[in-house]
Amino acid sequence: MRNYRNTPCEETFTCKSCGALVTPEGAGTRHRNHCPQCLSSVHLDEEEPGDRASACGGVMEPIGVWVRKNGEWAVIHRCRLCGALDSNRVAADDNPVLLMSIAVKPLAMPPFPLGRLEINQNISKENMHAD
Ligand SMILES: [Zn+2]
Ligand SMILES: [Zn+2]
Repeated sequence: MRNYRNTPCEETFTCKSCGALVTPEGAGTRHRNHCPQCLSSVHLDEEEPGDRASACGGVMEPIGVWVRKNGEWAVIHRCRLCGALDSNRVAADDNPVLLMSIAVKPLAMPPFPLGRLEINQNISKENMHAD
């Protein structure tokens, strides 16, 4: 058995989701674990990144983007098979258009009618006048 813990993701792999050949070059990180084209990953880790302790092996879809304390972007992944959630920092050559479209998705598809926002704003303005 190879010790993957000391050599995290420094190998070339074929993306399980879109079939792209993913190489470590250009990532700007030693911990590349998702495809720069479709941002999908594979459910391999259980407790910590690179531990390869999970037996699931399902494709992990990018479902969101969040910003870490230091301003660094990270992709939130969800496993299609078991639903596990994970987050991974964005690599230097990740598809920027796809990243942006994932990041704005909640804003583009709000779970409530946008008109309601305006109504709330009007109400708070009236309250301010009353003071
Ligand atoms: Zn891919
Ligand atoms: Zn899984």
